[in-house]
Amino acid sequence: MCGAPAPRTSLPKTPSNNSRGKKVAKFTSSDRLLFTTAGDRLPSIVWCSGCRDGGKLVLCTICKCNAICSVCIEFGINDGVDNFKCPTCFMKESKNIPYPWKFQSCGAGRENWPKIDTSPLAIISIHLQGMTDSPSILTYHHLAPWLHGNLVLIDLMFNFDDPKNNFNSQMECMLHEFEEGQFKDWSRFLVIITTHSDPDTGFLHIAPGNTGSVPANELFAFIFQERFRNILQRQEKNKNILNLLSCGALSSLPSSRDAVKDLASEKLFDRVLCFSQPSFQPSFTHRFVMDLASNYFILDRINLIHILQEQQTLGAHTDVILFNPKTITTFHWTHPGARPMGNYTPDSIQCPACLLLKSTSPTSISQLPEGFNWCQGEDPTNGLERGAWISTVEAIVAKTSDDKMEVN
Ligand SMILES: [Zn+2]
Ligand SMILES: [Zn+2]
Ligand SMILES: [Zn+2]
Ligand SMILES: [Zn+2]
Repeated sequence: MCGAPAPRTSLPKTPSNNSRGKKVAKFTSSDRLLFTTAGDRLPSIVWCSGCRDGGKLVLCTICKCNAICSVCIEFGINDGVDNFKCPTCFMKESKNIPYPWKFQSCGAGRENWPKIDTSPLAIISIHLQGMTDSPSILTYHHLAPWLHGNLVLIDLMFNFDDPKNNFNSQMECMLHEFEEGQFKDWSRFLVIITTHSDPDTGFLHIAPGNTGSVPANELFAFIFQERFRNILQRQEKNKNILNLLSCGALSSLPSSRDAVKDLASEKLFDRVLCFSQPSFQPSFTHRFVMDLASNYFILDRINLIHILQEQQTLGAHTDVILFNPKTITTFHWTHPGARPMGNYTPDSIQCPACLLLKSTSPTSISQLPEGFNWCQGEDPTNGLERGAWISTVEAIVAKTSDDKMEVN
């Protein structure tokens, strides 16, 4: 059951240098599979931007990231393999000039000549014992055909009520692999934290069965220890994503919302995503989490609205709240019948006068909720069936260095 209160408890001590070697519950690989990865390590370009297949590739000499295979274009011996330009780069440079290479087939995907980035990616799932982390597992399987051995799923499970809890030792095991083990130098991360939040306090559950919770900032500080932070910040302008799969109190109650804000402003992640629904059903996020990961990490399509436009099931369930280092954007779904102009009204399922079910569509509401605007490319008549998205943006005000100086 989601959204239940849980008493305030406390986290165990984080491992410090002098606690090393002392008696702590050790994680052993027989407990659970900590790392899931399969297949060969790949070079950073292996897929044809035309047919999405592999084969003999010719790399674009301009962007050095798009490649076309010798089935899509029949490259002769002398027809410019050395100065090959992909269609995207060619069109940027020269409009209405014949493309020097002749395509043998049309593309095999929705986008024309996308980037297909196969550089290594780690999915780190950190979840409360007993809560499924299926969005992480599904995302792993969704991306594996593109990335093979350049993808790993790491499964860290916590229950801080259990004295045999070995979260620290799981964490240690993971950090070691990123620092000097098999994932040394990997620098792209999708982190997914799955736990409940207390509806009254916004605190995050740290034990199953509603037996304990702590303020969100405490759990974040516990998880994102210095060594982990250093790994997340390996790329100067990192493209990491953090999905917080938790009931809505996390992003709506002021103190926990502040904790997410503070985390976002630390730039460990390019994006931090939360969901507003108090009775949160993670299953509704599956498609979104998968689509977001493949668009963002593989195809380099980074505009969130393009992904949301295909997510009416998610939109009907919850707002999506995007925390960037400087802004918080709330995305809200609209539908002419089910949610007119983005407003919740029981009129959409029942006539308020005669109580007939599904009798009319409410047409009286003509105003968007205060502060909201239509997202890029959206309007009330757009996407009637799928519904269109609106959003509102709040700026994150930088904190002063002296906490006592802080005023609202
Ligand atoms: Zn919950
Ligand atoms: Zn091809
Ligand atoms: Zn190119
Ligand atoms: Zn009626």
